[in-house]
Amino acid sequence: YYPDPGQRNLRRVLSGYLNVEPERIVAGNGSDELIDLLLRIYVGVGDNVIIPTPTFGMYTFSTGICGGETISVERDDTFEIDLEAMKSAITSNSKIIFLASPNNPTGNIVPEAQARALLDTGLLVVMDEAYFEFCGETAIPLLSEYPNLVVLRTFSKWAGLAGLRIGFGAMQPDLARTLMGIKPPYNVNQAAEVALTASLEDISCLLERVANIIAERDRMAQVLHGIPGVKPWPSQANFILCELPEG
Ligand SMILES: *Cc1c(COP(=O)(O)O)cnc(C)c1O
Repeated sequence: YYPDPGQRNLRRVLSGYLNVEPERIVAGNGSDELIDLLLRIYVGVGDNVIIPTPTFGMYTFSTGICGGETISVERDDTFEIDLEAMKSAITSNSKIIFLASPNNPTGNIVPEAQARALLDTGLLVVMDEAYFEFCGETAIPLLSEYPNLVVLRTFSKWAGLAGLRIGFGAMQPDLARTLMGIKPPYNVNQAAEVALTASLEDISCLLERVANIIAERDRMAQVLHGIPGVKPWPSQANFILCELPEG
């Protein structure tokens, strides 16, 4: 038996989990695959993508594969997004803005006002919420307001399924239909689908582990603060970025 190319069961289960219509949901071989598929739709030679740097490496990698260029806009000295610099970086060939929230590797989130300001540019904004479960802040409610918003999630981090490769995106139905039309038919394997379903059936156990990780993250940050010369950055994810003394 092959997996269902229409992802009917997966989209139904995810729809119940997110409270988003199944027609707005597409599952991928990890959320990395959805990044790649979105870029294939939107970006070709001569186009560009805007990212606030430092951020997750796959945006630049997959943009390059499509022949596109990445415009990296430096974050400020507390790693917040520089909104004005982001907006003035936009050119007539800009196609997508990628925002990771919480951001990898800095651990901070994109405040809603900043997300809205960038959505108001009209470019496709991809909010990558790979660490959502460790912070609880999401752009999902903005989907009904902004047809140019895509929210990506993954079961790799909070549910521990990185090796099985299962992520998903929520977006406007037209774009979801286009993605369904260009994805490899069997992109999500049967084992990943079973693991996702089992994870959601056992969600209270998984969320208890997430709560433990959050508590340990905060304890760890305190301990790191106590070490001379070590500067841990505040994190809403499951990791802590640290500045260390030279040597
Ligand atoms: C880990 C990570 C991903 C990739 O997740 P997969 O679903 O395993 O492909 C995407 N975005 C960010 C910011 C990540 O840290």
